[in-house]
Amino acid sequence: MIIDGAAVGEQIRTEVKTGVSTFVARYGFAPGLATVLIGDDPASHTYVRAKLKACAEVGIASIHTELPARTTQDEVVAIVRTLAKRTDVHGILVQVPLPDHMREEEVLNEVPLGKDVDGFSASVLGRLGVKGKKVVCAPCTPQGCIELLERNQVQIAGAHAVVLGRSTIVGLPVAMMLLARDATVTICHSKTQELANHVRRADIVIAAIGRPKFVTADMIKPGAVVIDVGVNRVPDASRKSGFRLVGDVDFDAVKSIAGAITPVPGGVGPLTIAMLMKNTLWAAQALCLVS
Ligand code: NAP
Repeated sequence: MIIDGAAVGEQIRTEVKTGVSTFVARYGFAPGLATVLIGDDPASHTYVRAKLKACAEVGIASIHTELPARTTQDEVVAIVRTLAKRTDVHGILVQVPLPDHMREEEVLNEVPLGKDVDGFSASVLGRLGVKGKKVVCAPCTPQGCIELLERNQVQIAGAHAVVLGRSTIVGLPVAMMLLARDATVTICHSKTQELANHVRRADIVIAAIGRPKFVTADMIKPGAVVIDVGVNRVPDASRKSGFRLVGDVDFDAVKSIAGAITPVPGGVGPLTIAMLMKNTLWAAQALCLVS
């Protein structure tokens, strides 16, 4: 089975749109997402534009701040603290990567837990690892992986999940979320010995290492579910752009062995912004319930 991330993403956005309408009817205002974009990185500008567009589509209000690359860390921190106090702001997203002169972790940790819709702060990561400890907003891409598994009725409890990659944005949080759902989890990274042998034992493989077609057919147990988070540019002279996107998994070879697999593009990618919308609605609901 090819898991259709675009369809699942669309389904989630439709659910969020309905949830936002109910929220507006109840409270008389829309959930608000504050986005802070610093510098000129073209990819960051593209991502933020897509996030603002998604907000407009589901009815979430956008509060957008754009700052030049020379902005100091103290200035950004002051802006985040002001946004944190605003009652019309229910979620705050500081687009990463930040300019080199800023300490990213310090800035992200300024976002209060209840408004951290990206789920990037250290508190969120810590809580993900504690069974029974609730987080309002789990990080978007890892949560997207879980949604893809759950909405396709993949049994997580009791399964052996192998996660390739241990970044704080994808690998580590997705591993913790699988563990919290009672999977037995192996995390592999660049120093892992005999990595292929670990992957061969997996019922669920999550690949998040950023290496094109690293996971080959001989590494996959027949019937395993493969979620490919990787997004890699490879040269392609037949394309006008001169490149195409491929995942961390050799999709064409693995698809006939795996029980289910996500393509790249069109797998995990569409889930990330959908989960950001869902997180913003959740954050607004949680904040309004306590106030
Ligand atoms: P990252 O911060 O660079 O982390 C990569 C991880 O992979 C590290 O833990 C690294 O191990 C491990 N790794 C690298 N090479 C390896 C190898 N040869 N064997 C085993 N492990 C290896 O990357 P990231 O931010 O987690 O992103 C991973 C991929 O997901 C990228 O392709 C990125 O573009 C993609 N991504 C997609 C989405 C989306 O679709 N929405 C969102 C985020 C990221 P060490 O820790 O030992 O260095």
